Amino acid sequence: MISLAIHDALVAFDAQMRGHGVIGYNGLNSLCRDFEDEVEVVKADLGPRHAYGVCQLRRQVILLDVNLDVSQEQRTLIHEVAHWLAYKVYGDRGHGRFWRRTMRWLGDDGWKRYVNSPEEMAAEEHDV
Ligand SMILES: [Zn+2]
Repeated sequence: MISLAIHDALVAFDAQMRGHGVIGYNGLNSLCRDFEDEVEVVKADLGPRHAYGVCQLRRQVILLDVNLDVSQEQRTLIHEVAHWLAYKVYGDRGHGRFWRRTMRWLGDDGWKRYVNSPEEMAAEEHDV
């Protein structure tokens, strides 16, 4: 298990995303500045049920699976950071309109693959 401060995770993310036309670390960092001491990024073997990542809002932890390749890890981190920000800024859980808006703002079109189920809207935390 590897535990990263969200700052370190975002630095690593930015190093990979430069030149890809997404907001990258600087934008994310300014957005996360108020939260970076609140949320921890942990890489762990999540097993088959948690294939990519989890944003645990109550525990204030973003889990990333250790078996992801670099591209998967980047997109999963964006996905989970978007959950964190959508919750903190808008009080939005799941893949609702504020999460989707946050994803668009972060430059990731992965939001298109998600719809919000009633179960998900009621869930305290959920998987990718
Ligand atoms: Zn999700």
